[in-house]
Order: sequence, then C-alpha cells, then structure tokens
Amino acid sequence: RSSKFPRLWGMHNTGHTGGTQDKDIDGPEAWELSTGSKNVLGAVIDTGIDRNHEDLKANMWTNPGEIAGNGKDDDGNGFIDDVHGWDFANNDNNPYDDHSHGTHCAGTIGGVGNNGKGVAGVAWNVSMVGIKFLSGSGGGATSDAVKSVAYATKIGVNFTSNSWGGGGSSSSLKRVIEEAGKKGIGFIAAAGNHRGNNDARPSYPASYNLDNVIAVGAHGSTGTSASFSCYGKKSVDLFAPGVSTYSTVPGNKYASYSGTSMATPHVAGAYALVQSLHSE
Ligand code: CA
Ligand code: CA
Repeated sequence: RSSKFPRLWGMHNTGHTGGTQDKDIDGPEAWELSTGSKNVLGAVIDTGIDRNHEDLKANMWTNPGEIAGNGKDDDGNGFIDDVHGWDFANNDNNPYDDHSHGTHCAGTIGGVGNNGKGVAGVAWNVSMVGIKFLSGSGGGATSDAVKSVAYATKIGVNFTSNSWGGGGSSSSLKRVIEEAGKKGIGFIAAAGNHRGNNDARPSYPASYNLDNVIAVGAHGSTGTSASFSCYGKKSVDLFAPGVSTYSTVPGNKYASYSGTSMATPHVAGAYALVQSLHSE
C-alpha cells in the first residue's frame, strides 16, 4: 500500500480528512477482486501525460507496432512514430503534459499501486496512453477532440477518460464517440463544473445521449455533491470523489485538485478494473 494512501479519501474514507466514513469508491473491497491488468488500455484524452513520472511510468503504454524514430508509420495507422500516443494540439508524436491536468487524471486512474511511491490509482495495473488535444494553457479545439477519440478507437483502447468539456453540441464529436461505442469502448466524461443542471442545459461531451457515455459528477468527502458540480437526474449517471483529490503532476510531483475532472478518472479506473476481470 502506498505511503500516501491515507490522503486518498476517495479510495477508502475513514473520516480521516474530516469527511464521513465509507463515502468512497470502496477501493480495498474492489482490490480483493482485481487490482487491474496491463491488458486493459485506457486513453486519457487531455493535456498529455508525464509518462516518465515515477508513479505512472510502469503503467504507460508503448505502441507495439511502431518502431521509434525511423520516420515511418510502421503500423500503418496514419501516424508516424506514434510510440507513446499523439499530440493533436501541436500535431506531433510527443503527448507530453505541459499543463498538469492530464497527469493528475492519469494518476487517479492508474497510479502504480504497491510500489512504495506516491499514490495508488484505482487500477494499480493498467496500460494508459496520453492523447493530447488540450494545450499548455488548457484550451483545445473540438476538431482535435474528434481526432483524439478517433485515434483512441484506432489503437484499440478499452475506454477513454474525458475530463473536459465546454464546447457546444457537435455532430462530428457525437458520431466519433458513437463509433467508439460500436467497438465496445466506454467514454467516461466529466459532467462539468459550472453548477448547472445538465437535464435543462446539456454539457458536452458528457450529455451526448449514447449508451457508451458515462457522465460523472463530483462529491466531497462527506458524500454530498460538490458545490461546483453539474448534476442532472437523467443526464448525470453517477457521482464520484472529486474534491481535494491527491494525485500525480509532472516532474515526479503530487498535488490536490478538485473538479468533476477528478471524479471522472475514479470512474475510469473502476471501469478498468471491471474490464480486467474479463481480459485475463
Ligand atoms: Ca503509426
Ligand atoms: Ca516508426
């Protein structure tokens, strides 16, 4: 168990952070069944990932069909030397995180468990790929989001974790998520942080009415919904821990962030654990 595990109230809440006992995702109970599998591949579609982070490195995906640095698209997927994923913000093969948001999300999904370092993700073992479309300032174009989802589908991920939103409804984005769904790929999405009722005013991509979209709101350590979280009886599927979530940030560092962005990777990690039970 990780040295800083007690900080992770979202995994196992004993009331130690001033919250309420058992208002958590039942991490230890889940880990009795599975701690995950490298055979499960999840994409963090975000600002990129610091793939060399001490607590993520062992769970980062490498494209098995691609030879690094030979200037060729060895696996014929349309992307040259995409050994570690792709950066659609800068259109290159280095989806490094020049922000921190994506690395934080990755640590909650798949921070390496039981390694005596940092944090434990929900899935201690998993393969993760950073697909970057959000720039260092955190913004991005819907057209690049579409490309990111299509790329994830192409490389055969099991799920994508999507802690972003704010654009309007896009038929091309909806279509590419639907195509991912036809391949059995789950699309876990943040409900939004503007306190809105998504039933009344949809928040995309979380609000696309597709079977593979799981829309996630955030709750705090007392189990009540976070003040910032969007909600919606019909349009938000569940709430997960997303207040003062401690996780990885670039440069072998750690930090606490709050948002439905932090709730979403808790659900993505749980999705990875469920998938791992079917992937051995
Ligand atoms: Ca390629
Ligand atoms: Ca190559």
